[in-house]
Amino acid sequence: MTTGVAILGSTGSIGASAIRVLDRQRDRFHVVALTAYGSGDLLREQAASLGAQFAGLVNGSNDMVAGNGVRSGVGPACLIEAATHPDVRIVLNAVVGAAGLEATLAALRAGKRVALANKETLVMAGELVRAAAREGGGEIVPVDSEHSAVLQCLGDRPCSDLRRLVLTGSGGPFREWPPARVAEATVEEALRHPTWRMGPKITVDSATLVNKALEVIEAHHLFDLGYDAIDVVIHPQSIVHAFAELVDGSVLAQVGFPTMELPILYALTYPERVCDTGVPPFDPVSAGPLTFEPLRRDAFPAFALGVAAGRAGGTAPAAFNAANEVAVQAFLDGRIRFGAIAGVVDDVLDAHRPSPAADVETVLAADNEARTRAEALCSSR
Ligand code: MG
Repeated sequence: MTTGVAILGSTGSIGASAIRVLDRQRDRFHVVALTAYGSGDLLREQAASLGAQFAGLVNGSNDMVAGNGVRSGVGPACLIEAATHPDVRIVLNAVVGAAGLEATLAALRAGKRVALANKETLVMAGELVRAAAREGGGEIVPVDSEHSAVLQCLGDRPCSDLRRLVLTGSGGPFREWPPARVAEATVEEALRHPTWRMGPKITVDSATLVNKALEVIEAHHLFDLGYDAIDVVIHPQSIVHAFAELVDGSVLAQVGFPTMELPILYALTYPERVCDTGVPPFDPVSAGPLTFEPLRRDAFPAFALGVAAGRAGGTAPAAFNAANEVAVQAFLDGRIRFGAIAGVVDDVLDAHRPSPAADVETVLAADNEARTRAEALCSSR
């Protein structure tokens, strides 16, 4: 009997990597359900070739995915249907942004493992996600390479053995640019990431270093650490994925050439390790000299805004995330400058009055309010 998997966001960059990983592990896993945002043709093709039972299209119509004996669903509810499918044991959530939250909660309540690539889920509603896992008996295993690295360093030790984490970041395409030049970066420049090939939203987040702030908040929830115990260091080669400092001062690191396939595979097989992964052997010499440098807060102001929102807690991280999503889209659409992304986020957070993130409705209301305000700010710039 092989394990049933659902892939939410199967036509994106993580989805494509996951399908390659699963293709090599057909004796362990089979794909039960797939969802995509709008790429109906590719989704239909994937569902047919993987023999999936269910294909869901968030933004499209039934005739775009129906056929070949695959049951189809449309609209945002298809994410929940895929995530809670009775034959699914593991849900790989690779949805972009806030849209992934409810599927994560539903899967955890249904007792599934969520292999989480949708970090916004934990950022927006970390407490609620952890509560859903406790109530339903589900578990969260990170797909983000830095968090996968920490989990691998931790092994079967409890989180209380961690004293501090140092997450690494490549620094993005503007690592060495003067702040004034960063503020004027074009869309094309922002999408040229030096070490990782990813979708446009996360690539812009990597250029602003918002991605690293989201990852600090994600680490806070995953490993139960205070913000003072989570640091970030810039490491342009992306070979060391994270450092985990244990309580006795010993520091473990997980290293490897940058590939998302290994963290995806580990999230599926955790805590087991499997052979025949197709991952090229590591070679320290060709990895080259490894360098580490501090994060330049003056050039990347959105990073500090994100960490401050994490520290504020309650609905503040949801407001931060929503404002950032809107500002990034406005930048990609050519409506605001790169440097205005942090300004929009800052203004939205200034106006936001955080309240405890008591339930999903409260979190979604904060998300909605921040989006409306951010849209208005983007239009007026
Ligand atoms: Mg990452």
